[in-house]
Amino acid sequence: MSEPRKDTVTVVGAGLVGSLLSIYLARRGHPVELLERRPDMRRETVDGGRSINLAISTRGLHALRQVGLEDEALKHAIPMRGRMIHPPQGALVYQPYGKDDSQHINSLSRAWLNAFLMTAAEATGQVNIRFKQRVTQVDFGSGALTVHDDATGQVRQEPGRVVFGTDGSASAIRQALEQRPDFTGTQEQLGHGYKELTIPAGPGGTFQMEKHALHIWPRGTFMLIALPNEDGSFTCTLFLPWQGPVSFASLDTPETLSAFFDAQFPDAKALIPDLVEAFFSRPTGSMVTVKGAPWHVGGQTLLLGDAAHAIVPFFGQGMNCGFEDCVVLDALLGQGGGWEQVFTAFERLRKTNADAIADMAVENFVEMRDSAGDPRFQFRKAVEKVLLNAFPGEFVGRYSLVSFSRVPYRLAYQVGALTDGIVAELSEGLTRAEDVDLKRAAELIRSRLTPFMKEH
Ligand code: FAD
Repeated sequence: MSEPRKDTVTVVGAGLVGSLLSIYLARRGHPVELLERRPDMRRETVDGGRSINLAISTRGLHALRQVGLEDEALKHAIPMRGRMIHPPQGALVYQPYGKDDSQHINSLSRAWLNAFLMTAAEATGQVNIRFKQRVTQVDFGSGALTVHDDATGQVRQEPGRVVFGTDGSASAIRQALEQRPDFTGTQEQLGHGYKELTIPAGPGGTFQMEKHALHIWPRGTFMLIALPNEDGSFTCTLFLPWQGPVSFASLDTPETLSAFFDAQFPDAKALIPDLVEAFFSRPTGSMVTVKGAPWHVGGQTLLLGDAAHAIVPFFGQGMNCGFEDCVVLDALLGQGGGWEQVFTAFERLRKTNADAIADMAVENFVEMRDSAGDPRFQFRKAVEKVLLNAFPGEFVGRYSLVSFSRVPYRLAYQVGALTDGIVAELSEGLTRAEDVDLKRAAELIRSRLTPFMKEH
């Protein structure tokens, strides 16, 4: 079978996924017209120039590796080897992410990565990025796009081509798809919003907290997290309900905000000098889980990344999942067949996995904000670590499978349910994780987990 013809294609949205996808498509010989609503972040300041970071792990790194970009990205990344829990009182608690330090996630600047990918896309010589181009409508018959040129104020038609919608969680391309009779889907807004704050670097660019950790202040219905940046600063994200006794609505004066931080996050407060100014001047973000289908119209249009499957950020997988989309699509293109065949196969492979990570991300929210601070949860994590070390390759936790492997998310979800059950059973009545009954553990792992892993 031959590969699809080397048509010129249109990619809508030069965010993280659209930029990487364009590189993959260009490598397959397709000239790419990449339309982006925002100005060029490499020349104009967007987001007030703040440093916002995200965690990239095995799946995302693999996608970068395939196009030769992993090494450069890792030069700018800070390994985070575990969670550093900041309880309301008492000493910090460190929970390693993996079986050892080689298993870590990486904090990377979102703006740096996006700019890096756009530059790498242009360097292929096949990708033409046009900025301030806002797509508002798609004609699914011809692939023609209605585009608002925000530089000139003019509205024009972009010629009909195969269209990839990578325009994020509020995707205009998906909204057009939603108008079609065969589309079904849901969009669930999380009852929490988020606000980004900054812990600046200490003297001489030093880190004012442990550098190689993702810091978490779990407080039940709300939490604060912080990820390190290359320049010694940390980007903090405060997750709070929109409404209620402790919420964005209730923190409406500098005094209430200050008192709230004094009571809940005194150590963080001491490190955020512009807390009040930043809190009241920066936007409050919302989070949504988008599930819907179909993701494609024949061989004409396909959604990828957040446009297809926006998820809440609590597993640090939204971008990783979108990058994995690019790898899967590329492999399908390599097998040949027409666009429609490729798009149909892509949706069949990815939809169930996107739904699985969407559900795990919501579950991880509860784990991070609530359970991570719970001594019983911490104990089960310690038992899990004993098992990971005692049964290497045989016992695997859900977090590891999601973050440190490329096994399909759906499978990771199913394995996670089995391992959680085994850990809970082995933890019963124990007071020290080291005392876990390894003989019984071997029986449980080999009777429940191993057959499942063999089957899949
Ligand atoms: P976006 O990054 O949203 O890019 C979409 C692009 O399309 C943008 O450039 C936008 O300007 C453009 N666009 C939008 N509409 C139009 C239009 N009509 N016409 C033209 N262009 C348009 N993921 C991780 O893997 N790890 C993390 O640690 C992590 N942390 C996160 C923390 C927070 C607080 C949030 C909110 C998300 C986090 N994510 C994380 C998720 C991650 O940000 C997204 O999954 C990722 O950005 C998706 O990339 P995308 O390219 O699909 O969409």
